[in-house]
Parts: sequence; structure tokens; C-alpha cells
Amino acid sequence: MSTILPIIHQPPLPLDRVILRDPPGAEAIEMDVLIVGAGPAGLACAIELARLAKRDQETGGGLSELNIGVLEKAESLGEHNLSGAVVNPRALRELFPELQPSDFPFRQPVPDEAVYLMTERRAQRIPTPPTMHNRGYYTASICEMVRWLGERAEALGVNLFAGFPVDALLVDGQAVRGVRTAPSGLARDGTPGPTYTAPTDLTAKVTVVAEATRGLLGRAWRAWQNGSSPNPQLFALGVKEVWEVARPLDAVIHTLGWPLPADAFGGSFLYPLGPTQVALGLVVGLDYHDANLDVHELLQRMKLHPLFRRQLEGGQLLEWGAKTIPEGGYYALPVRRSGHGVLFVGDTVGLVDVPSLKGIHYAMQSGMFAARAAFAALKRGDVSAGGLSEYDHTLEASYILSDMHRTRNMRLAFKDGLYVGGIKAGLMTVTGGRFPGGMIPMDEDARTARTTGPGTAFVPDGQLTFSKLDAVFKSGNATRDTIPSHLLVGRDIHPEVAEFYSHVCPAGVYERVGDELRVNPPNCVDCKATDVLGPRWTPREGGSGPKYRAM
Ligand SMILES: Cc1cc2nc3c(=O)[nH]c(=O)nc-3n(C[C@H](O)[C@H](O)[C@H](O)COP(=O)(O)OP(=O)(O)OC[C@H]3O[C@@H](n4cnc5c(N)ncnc54)[C@H](O)[C@@H]3O)c2cc1C
Ligand code: SF4
Repeated sequence: MSTILPIIHQPPLPLDRVILRDPPGAEAIEMDVLIVGAGPAGLACAIELARLAKRDQETGGGLSELNIGVLEKAESLGEHNLSGAVVNPRALRELFPELQPSDFPFRQPVPDEAVYLMTERRAQRIPTPPTMHNRGYYTASICEMVRWLGERAEALGVNLFAGFPVDALLVDGQAVRGVRTAPSGLARDGTPGPTYTAPTDLTAKVTVVAEATRGLLGRAWRAWQNGSSPNPQLFALGVKEVWEVARPLDAVIHTLGWPLPADAFGGSFLYPLGPTQVALGLVVGLDYHDANLDVHELLQRMKLHPLFRRQLEGGQLLEWGAKTIPEGGYYALPVRRSGHGVLFVGDTVGLVDVPSLKGIHYAMQSGMFAARAAFAALKRGDVSAGGLSEYDHTLEASYILSDMHRTRNMRLAFKDGLYVGGIKAGLMTVTGGRFPGGMIPMDEDARTARTTGPGTAFVPDGQLTFSKLDAVFKSGNATRDTIPSHLLVGRDIHPEVAEFYSHVCPAGVYERVGDELRVNPPNCVDCKATDVLGPRWTPREGGSGPKYRAM
């Protein structure tokens, strides 16, 4: 047995390639506001802004028509979005006060709920912790929510550019002036191929970054502007499946314990998606200690447990996917969420309440706050950091930050394992977050040492359990085989590190072949797990990656 310290093998953040001081190209497209990422955060921002601009025009407010553009790396809206999801409808209600919950793109109201503590053979029902109550909420597919929001944005005149990944921020002095998209049609060696399309520059008075979890643009901007956070951001990897089932599920279920080792933080979910479908997934904090821990494989083993097996048997796997979640909470929020010409919203900032696994309504709400701040700044003609700082103040005073403050140390308490963490989390709940006082300091995930050792082989049956190759097929991944690698791998990756990467990546991108690391970039589903612990992820040709439909 030996240990691996992932940070040692990780290449540096490619800052020079993300923060570009080049002037925009002569053909640059000019917009008023650019939004990077068509998730709930980006689309709620676009809708709110378009409404404010329309109202202003109708009432003779003096602002001329606003050109709003949303850039999304997926070929079609929703194809790169993945969530649980149980949705708190609060932000949707505020964005669409004229609609009823039955008008929203939900699958169903939460019928009942249950939490289980699992061992390999048993599931003991425990009282639902107050932070995990879901009464009054709805289950949904985030892909469907995103498509629905996209239609509403388009109807308001927002320009949606799907298939346009943003590769870099264009800056002038300290200000963000726009973005550059990734080129497409490159040959495997990185030279222009027969279908080559050069990057496009787009300029804007305000750029709203809504690129979500482990966002490259946000991290590069913060590194450039010294905008760090009290604690480093922490991440979890969620691997999820959607199944067609024979029997409807009558409750929202969460589990703790097995198949996770006691020193790993995480749990599973099983949600009803109407009478014939369920979503299930396993979420694991990336500060686990066992180098052989493999979230995809653990999810496969978990389905063999009677609690899951009886729900899934006789059914069919429809879709598979994976994505990271920022789960550092309150103390991992960057001190600056806005700057000259730029605002950061949603998961990019880390607006997720981990005990309840909720981020969708925060993403939407922060997008709406950003829209209001951008609109006010445009009206004043001041898009400087000062002019846009209203966003930070609004966020600071909002229910988002007060919720996150209440649960500020809960995830952090689990660095000592499930049982000690569970007791501490209970004390935090009864004291409204005051116990233990102060911040529990954390290291970034890549600084947690991993212990290597012999793993146990798992053989999927192809009925209930699946290999990574089959799983990637079920993500609809349509990346061209001849695409150049978008993954930056460190040098001198020794065999044990190669083995570790092969377990971290749920999509089989990394393989240990003999003593070598083999990389299969087209398999990548953009979950960003190895970006946290190893090789860096960068944007690639638009439309690459998964094609989720109901995630
Ligand atoms: C497994 C799992 C379960 C979850 N369960 C729940 C739940 O039950 N309830 C809940 O409320 N929350 C849940 N969350 C959290 C929730 O999904 C997120 O907080 C929410 O999706 C954040 O919204 P967003 O708009 O910030 O990011 P996203 O929804 O991730 O959207 C970001 C968009 O930006 C695009 N993008 C990224 N980079 C670029 C780029 N460079 N150029 C162009 N486009 C780009 C992406 O393709 C994507 O479409 C869960 C998350 C996971 C992973
Ligand atoms: S290579 Fe792609 S799919 Fe694999 S962990 Fe990294 S981002 Fe996720």
C-alpha cells in the first residue's frame, strides 16, 4: 500500500489561455449582455432581463432595445444539464407569478419521503432530518426545465446560441469585455481539418457567467482578480440513471451509509418521475480516501441492494449521466461575485445547499438578481465593478445566503467520517448553525491523500448493472472520434496514479494499460471530476459530449 497526493500530479490552471488581452476580432458580434451557459441560472437571468428591458421600453424608460445573447456548449438546450431533481418552486414562482405550479415543467409533486441508513443487506428507516424535508416541492428533469425556460427566453427575443462553448474571457485592463468561443473542426493533431470553423468573438457591456460547477472561466477570473474564498471549494461527483419501471415509486427516498465507506461523505437518491419512471443516483464527496473508490461502480453495486432492486427489476435503463456538485457551502463562496463588466451566478459561485441537495432555485434566483443589477447598471451607464456591485449586496441580503449560513459547517463536519459528522450535523441543526462556532477549515479535495491497495473486481450483468462503456452509450454521447484531446494531463503519471484516474472518471476516459495511462477524450461527459482531482478539463468543439434528454 502507498499513498497518492493528487495535487502533485495536476497541471496548473491554464490562465493565459482563458484570460485573453487580445482585442476582439474585426468580425466580433456586438451584444449588450452576454450570458455564458443555458442552465437555470443563465436562462432565468435572460428572461428577467428581457422582461425588464421590455417594460422599460413600454413605459418610455429611455433604455433602447437590449441585445441579449446566451451561449451554450451543448448542441441543443438541456443536453448538458443533469440534476436530481427535487425542485423548490420558490424562484420559478417569482419569475412567472402569472403561472400555477401545474404550468411548470415538473414531473409530479413530492408524494411522501423517507430516509434510510443502509448496510449491505438492510435498510433501516430513520427520521427525516429537518434539513432534508421536501414537502411542497416537485420532482423534475432539469433537461426538460431548461428546454422550457429556453422557449420562454426565445419568445422574449433572447438570442440563444447553442453549440457555442466559451473558451476564454476577453479582457481590457481589469474589465471583461466579452468572450471567445472554442473553434470546431480541428483534426486530432490540433490543426484545422476540412470542417474547421474559427473561434467567434462576442463583445458585451456586461457578461454574466453561468457556466456552473467547476467553471473554468470563473476560476480563471478569480485567480486573476484575487477573488478567493475563506475555504477552498469542495466538490462531489454525482452519477445518475433514469429508469423505466413497472411499478410507480410512492416516495422521494434518500439513503446514507452503504455502499460508501464510513470515511466518505455522500448518499443516494431515488425519486419518482411520474408513474413509469424513476431517477436514482449516488453522490460522493471527492475528498474520499480510498484510491480505488469508483462512484460509477458503487452505484452499480447499490442497485443490487433489495431497496433498489425491487424498484428496478423488470425495468429498463433509459439514460445515464454524471456531474459534479460544488458542495463547500457558505465558507467556499468567493468573496467577489462581480467585477468590471462581469457577474457570476449559480453553481459557478457554489450556490448549493448541501444538506438538502438543492441548487436549482438558488441558481435561478441568483440569475434574476444578476439581471436586475445588470439592468440598473446599464440604465445608469455604469457597468464598472461599483456599478454592478448591487448584485453582491442583493445576494448577501437574500434567503440564499441566510439558508447557506444556517448550514455553513454541515458538510465540513463530515471530514471526520459519517458517524462523527452525523452527530455534529445534528447539533448544528438544533443550534441553527451556531455549533461549533467559527469555520471548520478545509483543504481542497486534491490535497487529500489517497491510499492505494488491491481493489475488488466488479462484473456488471448488463441487465441491472452496467459497464462504463455501456453507461457512456446511454448518455447519448455523440463526440466525434477524431476530436483533439481537450484534457490537460500532468507529466510523469505513474501506474498507480493512472489507476486512480481510471476510478475517478465515471465515463472510462482514463484507463491503465500495463504501466501506461491511456486517454479516450471522446468518452468525456463533462462531469469535471478529474478536473478536481487530476487532468484539467477545457471546452471543446460545440455539440460534443452527452445528449441528455431526461436527466
Ligand atoms: C447529481 C445531482 C443531483 C442534484 N440534485 C438536485 C436536486 O434534487 N434539487 C436541486 O435543487 N438541485 C440539485 N442539484 C444541483 C443543481 O442541479 C444545480 O445547483 C443547478 O443545476 C445549477 O444551475 P446552473 O444554471 O448554475 O448550472 P447548470 O444547470 O449546470 O447549467 C450550466 C450550463 O452552462 C453550460 N456551460 C458550461 N460551461 C460552458 C462554456 N464554457 N460555454 C458555454 N456553455 C457552458 C452547461 O452546458 C450548462 O448547460 C443536483 C446536482 C447534481 C449534480
Ligand atoms: S474526463 Fe470527462 S467524464 Fe471523465 S471525469 Fe473528467 S470531465 Fe468527467
